[in-house]
Amino acid sequence: MTRLDTKDALASLYAEIEGRNPAQPEFHQAVHEVLETLAPVLEARPEYAEAGLIERLCEPERQIIFRVPWQDDRGRVHVNRGFRVEFNSALGPYKGGLRFHPSVNLGIVKFLGFEQVFKNALTGLGIGGGKGGSDFDPRGRSDAEIMRFCQSYMTELYRHIGEHTDVPAGDIGVGTREIGYLFGQYRRITNRWEAGVLTGKGQGWGGSLIRPEATGYGNVLFMAAMLRERGEDLEGQTAVVSGSGNVAIYTMEKLIALGANPVTCSDSGGYVVDDKGIDLELLKQIKEVERGRVSEYAERRGASARFVPNGRVWEVPADIALPSATQNELDGKDAETLIRNGVKAVSEGANMPTTPEAVQLFQSAGVAFGPGKAANAGGVAVSALEMTQNHSRTSWTAARVEEELDRIMRDIHTTCHETAERYGAPGDYVTGANIAGFERVADAMLAQGVI
Ligand code: GLU
Repeated sequence: MTRLDTKDALASLYAEIEGRNPAQPEFHQAVHEVLETLAPVLEARPEYAEAGLIERLCEPERQIIFRVPWQDDRGRVHVNRGFRVEFNSALGPYKGGLRFHPSVNLGIVKFLGFEQVFKNALTGLGIGGGKGGSDFDPRGRSDAEIMRFCQSYMTELYRHIGEHTDVPAGDIGVGTREIGYLFGQYRRITNRWEAGVLTGKGQGWGGSLIRPEATGYGNVLFMAAMLRERGEDLEGQTAVVSGSGNVAIYTMEKLIALGANPVTCSDSGGYVVDDKGIDLELLKQIKEVERGRVSEYAERRGASARFVPNGRVWEVPADIALPSATQNELDGKDAETLIRNGVKAVSEGANMPTTPEAVQLFQSAGVAFGPGKAANAGGVAVSALEMTQNHSRTSWTAARVEEELDRIMRDIHTTCHETAERYGAPGDYVTGANIAGFERVADAMLAQGVI
């Protein structure tokens, strides 16, 4: 097939996928972004199209939706919706986080699951892709309410997961506390100490050292690798970071360790800019211990920091940007602002935080752009290392996990870089990540027959 035929075929496939998955714009966006880059590999390997690989890849193997009833502290009954989308298990058990946030719906979970398939393939660690969550809003809920919600959620989910089947972890709204309550309920229902059924567990009961840090650390390592490619390093670079959750905090920690200066953080209320650089101890105290808001950071930090309510963090001038909050948080206008202010590189800590228009703008302006599938794969990679430790009943030192994480992030960078070059798109990490992830999953699917 010529390039034109392939593009046409992909366009009609995309239209079909859009039609049969109505009202799921984020899922459409994630699929479109991948299909747009696959033409060269489909031309080089016609057997993929013959085996209906794209059609199969875009349809989850299984989608589970369930009711999650729970009682608040006053005894009032609430009903939320629970999801688990088991997207693809050609490379290993389904693997991916759970998100508890009011914005969660089937389309969001599918976009995240779809991304996860490629991301997990890029780690090279034998994990399939899945994602789950609920439209439950944990904000302002007591510990006891969170526990009851998690127990109710697991009371349905337990029958679908297992260390060899599907291994959930955290995402937005799900951290060590929630994983603890989920694990407790799983253990109670199944009467099994099955450490490898969930990752992101606490230290002392099967969790891996460096798992909380891994997504942020990994993203900075990916950013460093992109800069190295251009003959630069992180030393002295001013960084704009969005978000203030687990990914953002450990992104900042690694940036500081490598000599860069993160000057911002944000939440849904607005952003903070700190001329002296973010004081991480203060931010951790407010976010991780007190579960507070970033506006409190500005109040307590003193003269160097100010809170900008409802502002766009991307208006702060910086050398590098690391979006670490949520999907579509950086749009075309933001990209123009960043480019005008001289940004050199952007690396995605969150999943799909950059809109397609913004990605396009960065790439045509020669800004190095690291897509989340590659750049934020460190989190799930260390989850896979947690599974390895669980299976062998050992726990590794922090140094050993960090060493592995470092090697994995370098390998992912090299793989994306080389794949982009091989397919005629040098420097295009989006194409490199999509094709390299696709090839790994597609080859396994091809070998395993039409299932
Ligand atoms: N939610 C994380 C991600 O987006 C981590 C998933 C995991 O550790 O399984 O990759």
